[in-house]
Amino acid sequence: MIRIDNLRFSYPDSMFRLEIEELVIGAAERVAVIGPSGSGKTTLLNLIAGVDIAEHGSVTIDDTQISQLTDSARREYRIEQIGLVFQTFELLDYLTVLDNILLPLRIGANKQLTPEYQARAKDLAGFVGMQDKLDRHPAQLSQGERQRVAVSRALLLEPKLLLADEPTGNLDPGNKHIVLELLQSYATEHSATLVTVTHDQSFLSSFDRVLDFASVNQANSA
Ligand code: ADP
Ligand code: MG
Repeated sequence: MIRIDNLRFSYPDSMFRLEIEELVIGAAERVAVIGPSGSGKTTLLNLIAGVDIAEHGSVTIDDTQISQLTDSARREYRIEQIGLVFQTFELLDYLTVLDNILLPLRIGANKQLTPEYQARAKDLAGFVGMQDKLDRHPAQLSQGERQRVAVSRALLLEPKLLLADEPTGNLDPGNKHIVLELLQSYATEHSATLVTVTHDQSFLSSFDRVLDFASVNQANSA
């Protein structure tokens, strides 16, 4: 479960303001976040993931108040407990596709790179049609292929929370369907919470709830 209370956030050099009095996303709920470009959708995901910290209020995931953790504890929590698909993918250019998918193991302290994880990484790549490109580097991939690698990576450690920022934004209709289906079936099978920013109207009905950012950010209506 995600709980946000009395949250206020702004960037130092921007007029943008985010204000959320209360937002609750239930355990295993699958939520689509919609809203115009620049409305704060990515900012919201970064606040939930503890990439950014609010100047006021709290973000709580299950029993952990993210805003109260130290920087290193927050980073560890994020790597181990949250599957993150960044809008900009955040793949590392010097690593192959396979090693990018395995990255959470390399940067997280508490898990070993076992043959099981190797196999899981390859299975995930296979789900999204990347099994023949495991040895390539990101520079040798299309945008859509990079995105599919980013989605595979987010699922590696079987997180209970998945935050996906426009994960289908660069994909053709066939791959959109594959990626959304993978995220949703993962969430269902693992009882994971899924928060997906999307512009794809045609997929909204497959989510439990659609959150319109215009009604989430109370700074807009002030
Ligand atoms: P969305 O994901 O809905 O398109 P964002 O959350 O990325 O919106 O951005 C919300 C607003 O905050 C925009 O006006 C954007 O320009 C601004 N913004 C985003 N990131 C930064 C940053 N690091 N520094 C300053 N302003 C930012
Ligand atoms: Mg965004």
